Amino acid sequence: MSVSKSLPRLRKARGEAWEQVKTLQRIYEKHQLWHRSPYDGAFMFLTSEGWLTTATRIKKNNVKPKDLSLVLSFDEKKNEITYVGNRVPSSDLPEFLILVNRNEKELAKRGEKLPVIKYVVHFHKNEITRDTRFKKYAIPFYRYGMFESGHNFADEILKKNKATPGVNISGKGRGFIILEHGVVRMGVKLDHLEKFLESFDLIN
Ligand SMILES: [Zn+2]
Repeated sequence: MSVSKSLPRLRKARGEAWEQVKTLQRIYEKHQLWHRSPYDGAFMFLTSEGWLTTATRIKKNNVKPKDLSLVLSFDEKKNEITYVGNRVPSSDLPEFLILVNRNEKELAKRGEKLPVIKYVVHFHKNEITRDTRFKKYAIPFYRYGMFESGHNFADEILKKNKATPGVNISGKGRGFIILEHGVVRMGVKLDHLEKFLESFDLIN
């Protein structure tokens, strides 16, 4: 598909997700969800046009519409993501896309009717990452920017899932910790993310 044909889709997706983007921006700011600078982390939202994602090197507490790109397709074998937008999508995108994909497959396999994941947010927050209470939710670090890492994350989560109900690749508002790195939250409504940040309870 040509870029010019995709531009209306991009605009539509930005419009649809904009309120949520603003909410998340406020959450990033309020809870200071970064380690070095607000450029840390990445997120994506599901729209009727597909996944709208942050570009690389943007401030998560000050997102502009032009900072958001729309994923048109991805191909693991070719190691390729097709997108429309002003800037290259975040390097965390391959893992995100695989996580969501694997979640859907897992739900289908189990015959569960849980809501489809509508957002994925990754942020750095040492208070969570270094909190020993959350150690059981931590999975090893895999190199970012690779589809394979997404599979590694999904496999680790599914392994943990049996023993630790708080860590679940499926379900609403679930998350996990990347060891000594950061947090990944996936869910339906951002309320769950806020509740989690208020309470530091991964079940929320
Ligand atoms: Zn990170």
